[in-house]
Amino acid sequence: MSNKTNDPSRKSWIDIPADSDFTIQNIPFGIFSYADKPKRVGVAIGDFVLDLSALYDLGYLDINAFSHDHFEAEYLNQLMKLGKTALTKLRDDVAYLLSTECDDLKLSTKHNILLFPIDQVQMHLPVKVGDYTDFYSSEDHARNVGTMFRDPNNALLPNWKHIPVGYHGRSSSIILSGQEIHRPKGQMKPKDAEQPSFGPCKLLDFELEMAFVTFDGKPLGQSISTEEAEEYIFGMMLFNDWSARDIQTWEYVPLGPFLAKNFASSVSPWVVTMDALEPFKVPGPIQEPKVFPYLEYSGNKNIDINLEVSIQPEKGPETVISKSNYKHMYWNYAQQLAHHTINGCNINVADMMASGTISGPTPDSYGSMLELSWRGTKPLKMNDGSERKFIHDLDTVIMRGHAEKDGVRVGFGEVSTKVLPAI
Ligand code: MN
Repeated sequence: MSNKTNDPSRKSWIDIPADSDFTIQNIPFGIFSYADKPKRVGVAIGDFVLDLSALYDLGYLDINAFSHDHFEAEYLNQLMKLGKTALTKLRDDVAYLLSTECDDLKLSTKHNILLFPIDQVQMHLPVKVGDYTDFYSSEDHARNVGTMFRDPNNALLPNWKHIPVGYHGRSSSIILSGQEIHRPKGQMKPKDAEQPSFGPCKLLDFELEMAFVTFDGKPLGQSISTEEAEEYIFGMMLFNDWSARDIQTWEYVPLGPFLAKNFASSVSPWVVTMDALEPFKVPGPIQEPKVFPYLEYSGNKNIDINLEVSIQPEKGPETVISKSNYKHMYWNYAQQLAHHTINGCNINVADMMASGTISGPTPDSYGSMLELSWRGTKPLKMNDGSERKFIHDLDTVIMRGHAEKDGVRVGFGEVSTKVLPAI
């Protein structure tokens, strides 16, 4: 990466609102369309989307490194197959064209086919998700859940501080922000009930998470070290791991999450690159007991990303119900990827790995309704006067995230999902 791209003093010739997530230091990638045109790759800049397909066709991008099909594409996958070096350079080149250091694009007479108001384009799922894994890497979350469901004195299971615990999920039900979901149906058995029952989930919940997407990894049989991890990660998104708590409680023994999770997980549309997040890295927690050598790492691998969750009822204002931070993770993304591959498991382009619920240390920073309402015993007050223990029909759950340092903001936009009644 050129040092310039993350330089806090760099400015764009595009007017960028002060509170914008999409600054000249960000340059996140997504897939969009407008009018009846095919899907294409874009980057967000302020209140605009820059069409990389048009940018390529007009000769602004490296003709030897890319072809038209990398940019007029259903997904980012083909572009991501080119790997870290190529995409770092692409971000550098695009940022330069958008900066005040360069007049070429600014003086172009083709702005009508290059730049679109962000609220006038249709966003699409940015990647065709390969395999999907969900980790369980926030200590506060694991401790809260263990306290509620098992034993407050032994809240963490014996393996938790040795293994970045995770499970394989289902990629086909990962959906884009904005797509509505129906309350899932399933089997459940309340604690005091004799027999299980069937019907709409009563304890619908979100999980506040971040997900990273990978470049092509190594072949089956080889591992990616914590040192190498960043070479294999393209970027991150906000991730809502929808969870049906009553279905989950009944089904998860002994093999883990299944239908309580795979009815939907929602992601934000813009992939913020690891390069853009570099300035916001911070030290992680001290890990005690000492981890196995393959999980040791050097340098800062936690990232200071402010996160918040809101609920917006059908008719009423939003209420912010949680403020957390990705820096709270016990296991970082490099350890997650190293652990995932230590047995030789192969990683492919656009595999998605979610962090696990990101809870902070205080009750107002918990990352799920399960924790925020403490299993329904402490209802949350909404700004419209109503209460929530879990998510109601017609509620919209909105997650937002951004990093900020030295006057520079690098954000993710939002992942927003409305819940419709069960069918
Ligand atoms: Mn989860």
